[in-house]
Amino acid sequence: MLLDTLSLEFALSVVALLLCLLFFSTFRQTRSAYSGWWCISLGCLLTGNVAFLLTGTPQQLWADPLGNALVVAGAFCVWAGSRSLRVLPVRRWQLLAAPVLTAVASVLENPASNEWSGGAVYLAMMALGMGLATRELWLVKPIGSWINRSLSLGAGTLSAYFLVRWVVYLLEGPDGPEFRTFFSSSVTSVLTMLLLVTVSYSMTALSNEQLINALSEQANRDSLTGLLNRRAFMELGSREVRRLDTRGSTSTLIMADLDHFKKLNDTHGHTAGDAAIKAFSAACMSTVRTTDLVGRYGGEEFIILLSGAEQETGQIIAAEISRVLAAAPAPPGVTFPTVSYGVAASADAGADLDHMIEAADAALYQAKTRGRNRAVTANPAKAVDFRATKPVRGSR
Ligand code: GH3
Ligand code: MG
Ligand code: MG
Repeated sequence: MLLDTLSLEFALSVVALLLCLLFFSTFRQTRSAYSGWWCISLGCLLTGNVAFLLTGTPQQLWADPLGNALVVAGAFCVWAGSRSLRVLPVRRWQLLAAPVLTAVASVLENPASNEWSGGAVYLAMMALGMGLATRELWLVKPIGSWINRSLSLGAGTLSAYFLVRWVVYLLEGPDGPEFRTFFSSSVTSVLTMLLLVTVSYSMTALSNEQLINALSEQANRDSLTGLLNRRAFMELGSREVRRLDTRGSTSTLIMADLDHFKKLNDTHGHTAGDAAIKAFSAACMSTVRTTDLVGRYGGEEFIILLSGAEQETGQIIAAEISRVLAAAPAPPGVTFPTVSYGVAASADAGADLDHMIEAADAALYQAKTRGRNRAVTANPAKAVDFRATKPVRGSR
């Protein structure tokens, strides 16, 4: 069976057009950068391929260099799209260098009569563009997810094919027996079609995966502060307390409540209150380690779980958070409120998050009744003098 190049290039153009339209609708719905890049890439491949259909006509003079440049631009758009998945920037020259180089090489090699004008540069740039995309896709997080792997494998296959095609082209030219049998435009069109469909399918799965991740992230976060919401904190916290307990390690829980917060709201308005809530959550985040959990428990109440920490450390951390909050810039005329804390260690609460919350809450109540602006521990026998502790930022 002889597959003629013209029909295959036409079929490839139709497939690219269809996928381009489908991805454009995805892009309009999701506005995701990578589906936008994928759409542009398919557009480049489509128009480049239409230009190749003019090979053998008098238009070949400009159509071939243009086709080569557009298809290479398509490969580099795949690379740009892969980088967007890693939230990495792409500079304009990085995108344009390869297509411009390819077009120049093509123009210099007599494109009016030479069907393979600029062939060596074109093949090398295709291998390079797809190779770079392969690397980016391999590094997309979560590394090792089957979607990222299959995308990377698809891009890698195309890159390897173009690399071998380039070497064979250099060795025997476009009329050599191996090149004409295994690396002709017909074979490339069939392979590209297969990969387009595979990659597009994976892209859709990736889009869904990212959407699900974004939604679950949204569902777990408090919208004002970005901290964990109560439900997410309870879920992650109880798992963490149990995990540490089975490893024979401790954890400490801090309940925090801003003092006389209602008064701040009443005097300076809700915006000032919101600013205090945000400043407090920022103070918490800058004080604790990334492995600790911080949540917004309710209006102006917060909850912190310190992994591997004793009650004393909880007290020191509470003092440091208050110090950071007091030093934070407040809106004009506003003074951020002081904070009361209740601290309870897992060792004194049966390594159970609900019991730790009960104990810390009772201690917090004590802190309020004893005059606020202090940290009270659930186990007074192990308490340290709150004011005697030194700031410990970064030392844990
Ligand atoms: P205490 O020292 O005993 O804790 O007194 P308080 O005034 O801080 O406590 P109270 O429970 O009486 O008041 C809490 C206030 O927090 C009431 C509520 O309107 C306000 N609040 C809850 N959520 C938010 C929020 O998201 N933004 C703002 N600005 N205020 C909030
Ligand atoms: Mg309260
Ligand atoms: Mg309060």
